Amino acid sequence: MEYSKGHNWFISRLSLFGAFLISAPIITLGFGETFVPARFTIALLSTILLFIVLYFIFTHNSRRRMRLDKGEMPSEWYDILKSEVKYYNALPSKEKKRFEALMKIFLGEKHITPVDTEINEKDRVLTAAGAIIPIFKLPGWEYSKLNEILIYPGGFNEDYEQGKGGRIMGLVDGGTTMILSRTYLYSSFKDADDGTNVGIHEFVHKIDGADGSIDGIPSFLLSSRDLIESWRKIMADELGRIRSGRSDINPYGGTNEAEFFSVVSEYFFEAPAKMKRKHQKLYDILKKIYRQDTFSLFNAALKDMIPVRFGRRSK
Ligand SMILES: [Zn+2]
Repeated sequence: MEYSKGHNWFISRLSLFGAFLISAPIITLGFGETFVPARFTIALLSTILLFIVLYFIFTHNSRRRMRLDKGEMPSEWYDILKSEVKYYNALPSKEKKRFEALMKIFLGEKHITPVDTEINEKDRVLTAAGAIIPIFKLPGWEYSKLNEILIYPGGFNEDYEQGKGGRIMGLVDGGTTMILSRTYLYSSFKDADDGTNVGIHEFVHKIDGADGSIDGIPSFLLSSRDLIESWRKIMADELGRIRSGRSDINPYGGTNEAEFFSVVSEYFFEAPAKMKRKHQKLYDILKKIYRQDTFSLFNAALKDMIPVRFGRRSK
């Protein structure tokens, strides 16, 4: 969900080259046995025109994202991020800016649609936060198989009915739509340390499914065959412990490999200190998958909050 300034520079050169290649035969029309200036001028103008058209087609996405990023962020979004999103608050200021840019782009491109309710800014900000946290250190990541997030006011049942005691908090399938329940989305961010977050959970399913199957193996993020094997092994061992009641991991993670990956990702992003203490191997491999060290991130943020006395950090 990023764009880079270098990207447009490269594309402009590529467009120029493409335009030249296409119009080279036309240009040669200007050089017959006798040079015809009018023909040459037409050929040159068509090359320039072609270049402009190609440039605008190729850089369409990137320019739109630049516009979205440059747009002012509503002050309400800051307030919500500050009061609700622990992860954002732990980031150094430069990284906060990057988080905000990704959020503006995400909300500018994806549809957040209310169902039987009205949408508000908190719905939008928390949905975007759930999307951005897991991909924050995955440069160039795109939620390309996701167009729309439906916001239901509360939990729902298997027939998508609300208010009938349904306890489903969120849902994704193989399609391009996701459902999030507002009640659970809000409580997920409010209880920032409990290791559960429906927003992160559902977006991790989308990350998992980017390789074509939601199977608990995010192939795009496991950079080598060895890493895939390690992940399979760690997952199988821990699944065994969950299923036999010997693990502190949310039992829902024992449903299957896909739920396991989403559930342990929630744990990794919300309670990394506990995960590192209890599941060192799992923590280490998730750190490789997400290219993030959530333990260090929250630890550093915590240290910044400890009062400094006599010019020294108190212990
Ligand atoms: Zn799930």
